[in-house]
Amino acid sequence: MAKYIFVTGGVTSSLGKGIFAASLAKLLQARGHRVTIQKFDPYINVDPGTLNPYEHGECYVTEDGAETDLDLGHYERFLNVPTSQANNVTTGRVYQYVINKEREGAYLGKTVQVIPHITDEIKRRMLLLGQTGEYDIVITELGGTVGDIEAQPYIETVRQIIWELGHNNVLVCHLTLIPYLKSAKELKTKPTQHSVKELQSYGLQPDILVCRTEHPLSDDLKRKLALFCNVSNDSVIQASDMETIYDIPLEYQREKLDQTVLRKLELPIAGEPNLDKWKTFIQRLKNPTSQVRIGLVGKYIELQDAYKSIFESFIHAGVANNCKVIVESIHSEDLEEGNIAGTLGHLDGILVAPGFGSRGIEGKIAAIKYVREHNIPFLGICLGMQMAVIEWGRHMLGLADAHSTEMNPDSGNQVICMMEEQKKISAKGGTMRLGAYKCAIALGTKAFDAYGSTNITERHRHRYEFNNEYLDAYEKSGMIASGKNPDTGLVEIVEVPNHPWFVGVQFHPELKSTVENPHPVFIGLIKAAMEYKQKRVGAKAMQEA
Ligand code: GLN
Repeated sequence: MAKYIFVTGGVTSSLGKGIFAASLAKLLQARGHRVTIQKFDPYINVDPGTLNPYEHGECYVTEDGAETDLDLGHYERFLNVPTSQANNVTTGRVYQYVINKEREGAYLGKTVQVIPHITDEIKRRMLLLGQTGEYDIVITELGGTVGDIEAQPYIETVRQIIWELGHNNVLVCHLTLIPYLKSAKELKTKPTQHSVKELQSYGLQPDILVCRTEHPLSDDLKRKLALFCNVSNDSVIQASDMETIYDIPLEYQREKLDQTVLRKLELPIAGEPNLDKWKTFIQRLKNPTSQVRIGLVGKYIELQDAYKSIFESFIHAGVANNCKVIVESIHSEDLEEGNIAGTLGHLDGILVAPGFGSRGIEGKIAAIKYVREHNIPFLGICLGMQMAVIEWGRHMLGLADAHSTEMNPDSGNQVICMMEEQKKISAKGGTMRLGAYKCAIALGTKAFDAYGSTNITERHRHRYEFNNEYLDAYEKSGMIASGKNPDTGLVEIVEVPNHPWFVGVQFHPELKSTVENPHPVFIGLIKAAMEYKQKRVGAKAMQEA
């Protein structure tokens, strides 16, 4: 039977439960355990797919096409193991399932209630991955903060699971904040005490306290927390702010978190976790030999989380090239006002981001025209690729009204059009072309150079595609389709051979980049940016940078 670890949060949101879960999982995985992480979110949306990125950050898509919380991205980047639909559950999904069953008459005349029907369904889903035989340990992150009304059924369910499976099989880690009061020059434990009391009032006793703090916790303070929160002394774990999130597993290892967890779960604690690859990654991350500056052109740049996986992919690809990647966020709407050269001229490469709707797209098109004409390395992702196709149509094929059906259904030249199977769909949730699809790559292309393979799969999230009626004209004029879906002919990658590095991808490479497997397309972009910079500033300046 698998062991279960639950992660709750107290005092405030944004404590980094996702990174904690991923880091603990990494330590356990590095000791040879098969670990997965799942997230339960207490909101009513069936999944985050219909949420605006300003609300909820990036929507992360799994291999099997689930639209999920961005924390699943952290899980995959840390563990290098894919997640699935089962790894992200929301209140909306649970209720939808229970209500559908009620309509089918499955409850045989009973009154359907939060307890036991909703909690039973939550329980079924919490235990599911642990019953597949694929995992030794399942870590479940509970979204929200203890005390939230909507989180109560989840906490009650965890209480029941502990009662059923026993304390040696189930563990609760509670993340909390130890604020520092400058005027008193003191770290304060009271908010933590209160949040633990709140948990206890639901019948749940945390086993491990993970304390986010800006100052080191003294032994006295740790003892005080242990005493008042009713945990053992070695269960108070210090969680300081780190230079990079990739340092965090090592910080928890220093705090012996993995050993405490294993002891409480009655699992053997032999030796130390094997984190050699991880440490090499950090070593290279902290000692780059050059640096490049990449512009990220998008419309949600005010919110870091909106492009989370893209930022992380740059870190991975930078390390693969021993290069520090400085990402400059550029608002696509600002580019519409002109002065493109002033904003982009100093950059070594640009990435035009995915997105939906017309806001800012003319800025994206203007940026693409500039980098194409000035031989600056370019990567367009999804909408970014579609904009590259429109830009080429307008300026290289003379189709002044080239457009996408998404933004201008009346244009005479819809070089990006709705996919056939999308035309009959009107509902919005979970209806895009989602998840992993095959792509065949043509030999002798930049895409082939990057992947070193003719057969790949990548993850998708879109409704529109390259309009194949134009493919001939594009290829004759110098923009080729270097990657296509082998079954449907859908264009997956476009590139311009007569440019140092101009690549657009219909899929989302950022969703598959991990610490152990940096993504080839990002590696290719950074490599091209380094070469471009070297040409511009010379080899010596490159090293000084
Ligand atoms: N809006 C575009 C489409 O649906 C691109 C989507 C995206 O960038 N993820 O095809």
